[in-house]
Amino acid sequence: MKAGLHNIIAKVLSLLVLIVAVCCFAKAEAASWQGEWLYRPGMVPQAYERITDAYWLPEAGTVSEGWQSFDYPERPPLGADVHWVALSRTISPAEVRDNTLTFATTNESVRLWLGGRLIYEYGNFRDMPLGDGYRWHIVVLPEFYSPTQLTFELYSNSPYQLGQVDSLGLSSEMEAMQTLFWQDVPNLMAIPVCLLLMVIMLLYYHFTSRKERKLYFAIVGFLGIFALWLLCAAKLTLLIFDAPVFWWYALSILAYLLPISANLIVYEVLRGEPGTRIDLVVGAEVVLFVIAMTGEMMGLHLMNRMMAVYYPLLLLSESVAAYWLWRKASKGDYRARALLSSVVAFTLCGVADGLAGHFHLWAQRSFVTPFAILPFCYFIFVLIGRQLAYQREMAARQADLEYEAAVATEMAERDPLTGCYNRQRLDKLAAESLNASQQEHLPMSVLLLDIDHFKRINDEYGHSTGDTVLKDFTSVVRQALDRSKPFIRWGGEEFLIFCPQLGMKEALDFAEKLRRLVSARKVGGVDVTCSIGVAVWHGRVDSFQSLFKRVDQALYMAKNAGRNCVRLEGGKLPGLYC
Ligand code: GH3
Ligand code: MG
Ligand code: MG
Repeated sequence: MKAGLHNIIAKVLSLLVLIVAVCCFAKAEAASWQGEWLYRPGMVPQAYERITDAYWLPEAGTVSEGWQSFDYPERPPLGADVHWVALSRTISPAEVRDNTLTFATTNESVRLWLGGRLIYEYGNFRDMPLGDGYRWHIVVLPEFYSPTQLTFELYSNSPYQLGQVDSLGLSSEMEAMQTLFWQDVPNLMAIPVCLLLMVIMLLYYHFTSRKERKLYFAIVGFLGIFALWLLCAAKLTLLIFDAPVFWWYALSILAYLLPISANLIVYEVLRGEPGTRIDLVVGAEVVLFVIAMTGEMMGLHLMNRMMAVYYPLLLLSESVAAYWLWRKASKGDYRARALLSSVVAFTLCGVADGLAGHFHLWAQRSFVTPFAILPFCYFIFVLIGRQLAYQREMAARQADLEYEAAVATEMAERDPLTGCYNRQRLDKLAAESLNASQQEHLPMSVLLLDIDHFKRINDEYGHSTGDTVLKDFTSVVRQALDRSKPFIRWGGEEFLIFCPQLGMKEALDFAEKLRRLVSARKVGGVDVTCSIGVAVWHGRVDSFQSLFKRVDQALYMAKNAGRNCVRLEGGKLPGLYC
């Protein structure tokens, strides 16, 4: 794929992420819940105990003592030592078309009052070592007929989360579930994409070079953490598996691990680029994670408090990482260029989700971070595309090398003048011919041809005519050969022919046929004859050395018999083929 097309795809994906993010912000909190809310912080007489007598509750339409107003969805202003707060708002029956109330709380025990009636309770309003976790609540409001106070009574051992009621909505039970489902769609769609990419990366992990493996490992690690985060952040998961404390800690820990694992990918991509210290960035994020975990274990609620450091650090470190990637990309590094859009998308979406989720700067129902998987898909496809192209190139180079090697071997094993095999190939051809014969339980013969008085031809017509005669002689003989009979230049004007699957009689006939063919033709414009010796393979007791010696002796006998004739080893059947 051309670099221009890559850029266009990256830009389209980034734009898509941006559009979706903007749409998510636009689908913000239902405006109807904003406005006149009252809050009452601090201790009540029956602090932390179940309050049956709700005398402290405000009454609709009256100014109640101890209550102050604040603007929902902002958190009411509370001191660091406050662990209990009540939030109240008047609702009229006309507002309640549908009666299912949904909302989320983080590390808070909740009681919900409608007028003086306690209608819902979660958590035990005590200091729990691990808090109450992140939880979605679905409450069906009982019927009421006049404007009544809806009061949330909240307790938290973490003063940084106390008083926060998220994603408050009123609808039918069916609609409530549907709404939650639609809010989960980005997460639910991104999870299988993550898993698919993980499988692809794991497959490629095995086929890639050791150098590249670290990058693939980092990608698989990041995708694994991201898939878990998506699962933990899905609202339906929290509803189906009611383990708020587990989900809250899992989500917090994974939030810290995400930028660390993402920067390990950046680290691998930036490897070898001078002036980049992504290891320091990863180090700072690891230190922050360790501090947050330690602080949390010591009961200092640092997991959440450290978010005030986490997000600025995320913005800063990823801006630096993006700059380094851009620098390497501008030098023509395709991986840096492909990763850049992912880093920007993950950072912007992550910060947007954080500002909405942790700092409640605006209300946002769906996470936008899942959409950042789109530019990341592009990064993976670029990696795989390059890997495939590299493999194809390697395979083509390998094929070229193999072809060149085959040609070189062929050249080395062929006689340049006649095109016959030379002695380099003798052993191999001998073994192949014997094998072909033995497989069929048939005999094997060998012919040795020598041009008669060749020296004279050289002397009479010159050496180059001698060469032409040699060439022509081999072409004439070749006309009678098939592929199963290898033709070898034994030396000078002597030629060896293996005749697999031919016994003595057939070999003598074949030799005679060749002799006649040569003597009947002008070879290189000259009348030429040849003498032929024939030997037969004697089975297990035989050897090639002995076979060649016997065929040489047979040729010698043919020469002695006056030339232009065929002789069998051992001098049998002399005269028959003259
Ligand atoms: P005989 O009938 O006994 O085989 O006699 P001859 O002359 O053919 O045999 P001899 O072995 O005495 O001579 C072979 C000659 O072939 C000697 C050498 O100069 C010649 N010769 C060998 N290789 C080549 C070659 O590549 N080209 C040419 N033109 N002559 C060659
Ligand atoms: Mg000779
Ligand atoms: Mg000769």
